[in-house]
Amino acid sequence: MNFFIILFLFFSLFSITFSHETFNSHLLPRPLIIEFPQTIETQFGKSIDELQLECSSWRFAVESNNLSPWKTIPHECADYVKDYLMGRAYRFDLERVSKEAIKYAKSVELGEDAKDVWVFDIDETLLSNLPYYADHGFGLEVFDGVEFDKWVDKAMASPIESSLKLYEEVLKLGFKVFLLTGRSEHQRGVTVANLINSGFQDWDKLILRATEDHGKLAATYKSEKRNEMVEEGYRILGNSGDQWSDLLGSSVSIRSFKLPNPMYYIP
Ligand SMILES: [Mg+2]
Repeated sequence: MNFFIILFLFFSLFSITFSHETFNSHLLPRPLIIEFPQTIETQFGKSIDELQLECSSWRFAVESNNLSPWKTIPHECADYVKDYLMGRAYRFDLERVSKEAIKYAKSVELGEDAKDVWVFDIDETLLSNLPYYADHGFGLEVFDGVEFDKWVDKAMASPIESSLKLYEEVLKLGFKVFLLTGRSEHQRGVTVANLINSGFQDWDKLILRATEDHGKLAATYKSEKRNEMVEEGYRILGNSGDQWSDLLGSSVSIRSFKLPNPMYYIP
């Protein structure tokens, strides 16, 4: 008899405990999310927090052109740069540039003579070579022109959607669109194919490096080409590029829009 009383009491207690836990789930210990210890040391002898701070400071110096020249991304920032490019932040930054550029493009009054120009760079401005750089450490490796040209020849770079939006907008507004790229003249065919299959349908000029331009710094080559535009009577009102060498030098645009690129630096 005693055994049955003990059994009854045990089940009663279990039932009370169970219902208490079920209906008072707020009493469960908090937090239920396991936090990754940010103070844990990385292979570089710094905490994850510290590395995050240092790498975002490095990226700011890159984008503001305070750090120049530079050859490769810092070894300890490899994961940081990869996460930035593959996550939402890069796209957010690209969209921000495009939005501001569209705002400006809509605000200017164009002349009647169809001489107002918007200049676009191509790589990492209109077309993204992320698949290529993903295979080459996102800037961890020193730039290999031969390998990159093989990628360009495939005409598989993807459109930067926010830039396509700006592109279509400036065309609609009546700007002349001049594409000014560091790619070589012999890559014209694949470049045209890649632009068209990415949705960039119309442009007024596509300027590539001719034989005499090889060996020139990008900043010099692009300045010379802009000088020619100005000599032809064009007014450069907007310029979009991912490198400062797309934007600085002579005959600079009234407004320049710098797209993010923490992967490489072209002087
Ligand atoms: Mg570029």
